[in-house]
Amino acid sequence: MESFISSTKHFDVIVIGSGPGGATLAAYLAQAGLVVLVIEKQNFPRYHIGESLTGMAAEILNEFGLATELERRWFPRKGGVKVIGKDARNEFFVPVLQPTWQVRRAEFDDMLLQNAIGLGARHQPGTVKKILHQNGKVLGVSYQPHGEQVLQDVTARFVVDASGHGTVLSRQGIAGPLVYFDEFSRQVAIFTQFRHARRDPGLMGENTFLFYSEVHHWAWFIPVSPDVVSVGIVIPTSQVQTCGGAEAAWAWGLENINPELGWRVRGCERVEEIRTITNYAYNVEPFVGDGWLCVGDAHRFMDPIFSFGVSFSMLEARAASQAILRTMQTGDWRGPFTEYAAFCTRGQDVALDVIRYFWKFPVFFGYQTRGKTRKDIIRLLGSDCHTPEETPIVQVMRQTLAKYGDVARVNVNL
Ligand SMILES: Cc1cc2nc3c(=O)[nH]c(=O)nc-3n(C[C@H](O)[C@H](O)[C@H](O)COP(=O)(O)OP(=O)(O)OC[C@H]3O[C@@H](n4cnc5c(N)ncnc54)[C@H](O)[C@@H]3O)c2cc1C
Repeated sequence: MESFISSTKHFDVIVIGSGPGGATLAAYLAQAGLVVLVIEKQNFPRYHIGESLTGMAAEILNEFGLATELERRWFPRKGGVKVIGKDARNEFFVPVLQPTWQVRRAEFDDMLLQNAIGLGARHQPGTVKKILHQNGKVLGVSYQPHGEQVLQDVTARFVVDASGHGTVLSRQGIAGPLVYFDEFSRQVAIFTQFRHARRDPGLMGENTFLFYSEVHHWAWFIPVSPDVVSVGIVIPTSQVQTCGGAEAAWAWGLENINPELGWRVRGCERVEEIRTITNYAYNVEPFVGDGWLCVGDAHRFMDPIFSFGVSFSMLEARAASQAILRTMQTGDWRGPFTEYAAFCTRGQDVALDVIRYFWKFPVFFGYQTRGKTRKDIIRLLGSDCHTPEETPIVQVMRQTLAKYGDVARVNVNL
């Protein structure tokens, strides 16, 4: 066990990482009057993938009165998601649950951090290296401030891991181990941004387009400014090997995933490097404990196809802030933290089944976006997945997956 070194500074809450999860949590807690320290290892503004927001993210952005700022920055207004099927023979469109935005994450994350600082949170550039704990209780962190060699210790009543894929508490053995989702873990995402890519005319040109080819072969096209579009392809790692590397796989994907994709970017100026991410789908259990909890990607991330990531991190941050405030009132963490964990798991499990269902039964999914269940699908894709009761559409999806989930997919021609 780590011996606890006497602290130099004490806070109510230390937040590791200031992505959307960490910055939102810090903002809620600072707003409630808590003394909050956010430690972030990267210099902001910095690039991050994850540019399309769902309706529930807008709910939180509106709570902080940030809509005007998003408009001032010319973030495209997202009206929905268009899914274009194999060989572009079919498509369906799901409108947003409420008006939301497509964002350039460097600016968006910086805006959220400045919002938290404006509400009173303290921001420390630095990298958390060690977790201080004693007798199963987390007491603080040891971090390396930017530009310094010597580690600093800081203590707090609560330490929150919002380090995204850094998964600091898991890697330090405080939270459970990282367990990779088999079904998504042999995937690679390859992505960049283009200027003047060919969008649809009018408001449709501000929406997310998903191009679908076959199971686990898909691409996104997300406008992030009046003239720049984020484009990514997701394919199995075996395909990258067959192509002979990421750059070749990227070129292959643009031309072969869907005929609707290639012409939109052909000849356009690339304004970002080509980046890749692999093995990004995992789960961590448990993710709450005495003096600590995890928010967002720090404990779970799945297939990014329906853009749940940022919204879930922000929703979990709001729920975590409520759990922490309740614990501070009562002194008992178990009830609030267990409820928080149940809230997160419920939402993430629903999203996972929606994604599984889409991959297994894309044709049915397409029908359901048009029929009586349209409203339910709009809610689900809006990240409204955390309701305590299982909704009828989720029941149908789960029953269908239980009954036919193991049979080979028949309806590949969405
Ligand atoms: C291919 C792909 C496409 C995606 N597309 C979308 C999309 O369209 N829409 C969407 O909503 N989501 C998308 N996502 C998901 C989205 O990127 C994440 O869910 C989201 O960024 C999670 O936010 P977070 O705050 O939990 O973590 P992050 O945004 O990752 O923030 C974590 C922060 O912690 C910091 N950190 C890490 N370690 C330490 C440390 N030791 N000390 C201090 N700081 C540390 C990091 O520097 C980082 O700034 C996508 C993901 C992938 C992989």
